[in-house]
Amino acid sequence: MLELIKINDSIYKIETKLRFISMNNYLIFGSNHTILIDTGFVSSKKEILRFFEKNKIDISKIDIILNTHCHLDHSGKNKFMKSLTKAKLMIHEKDRAAVESIDGLKKQAGSFADEFEEYWKQRLKWWNFEGGCKVDKTIIDNEIFDLGNHILKVIFSPGHTLGHCCFLLDEKILFAGDMGFESLWYGNARASLLDYINTYQRLISLNLKMVLSGHLDPVEEGIKEKYKSRLSQLLDRDNKILNLIENGHNTLEKLVKLHITVKNRSTNLADRLWQDYGEKNQISQHLDKLEHEGKIIKSQDKLVIKNNM
Ligand SMILES: [Zn+2]
Repeated sequence: MLELIKINDSIYKIETKLRFISMNNYLIFGSNHTILIDTGFVSSKKEILRFFEKNKIDISKIDIILNTHCHLDHSGKNKFMKSLTKAKLMIHEKDRAAVESIDGLKKQAGSFADEFEEYWKQRLKWWNFEGGCKVDKTIIDNEIFDLGNHILKVIFSPGHTLGHCCFLLDEKILFAGDMGFESLWYGNARASLLDYINTYQRLISLNLKMVLSGHLDPVEEGIKEKYKSRLSQLLDRDNKILNLIENGHNTLEKLVKLHITVKNRSTNLADRLWQDYGEKNQISQHLDKLEHEGKIIKSQDKLVIKNNM
């Protein structure tokens, strides 16, 4: 169900509420531009049109559509929203291919798509995904959009995907995409734990008054502390993994079975495959990091703690 929530005179949140999760897209009304951040509407086209009419939102005014990143819950209705407006679609170069074609999206999702194509397609169907949509312009770090009464700045924030961007309004309100306080996720083939860590460090350094993210309610209190705790949760996983290796869970397969980073309780097979896939990618990235830092070595398919050698 779609709902319009006023954040302030210039910002409105469009929320799609599902059973366990919400998808948030945002409208920013500036005097020079009207911007839509993300198009993750799960609703049908009819419902979306009815929603804009009911709320008397003149969507023809939207002249820029910004995608925080290529995941379907942020970009799935790009094509439809572009067809209703004269908006230019913009995203970072590194996520561009994934919104322009199914093939690009497949590469971004990784081998999950090759091994279990049928389940992957089920997910596309669930999102009413319509296929690719040409990107009109790519965006870069620190790029400025002058909205007249507001300034919106691109904060390149890779990790969750390689091209993830947040958008900073007037140096204080962050449109965070999936870099708010959502569950940690760097489980796609094209994700990067090291970038993710650097991005959290950058977000900690900003003086934010509000975080508006892809799936949660606005956060105004304790933002810096919350980001710091995210970062330590992420870094703690290294220690957890070292401990487990020491206690006999000394192969990638054994570690993945424990699901210490992605819960795997769903009864739906497509979800479970997805969660297994994410866990494997995430644990692999921690192992690469630990090996690079000289804390473990990979010896004859076994993981060995370096000071135990
Ligand atoms: Zn995402």
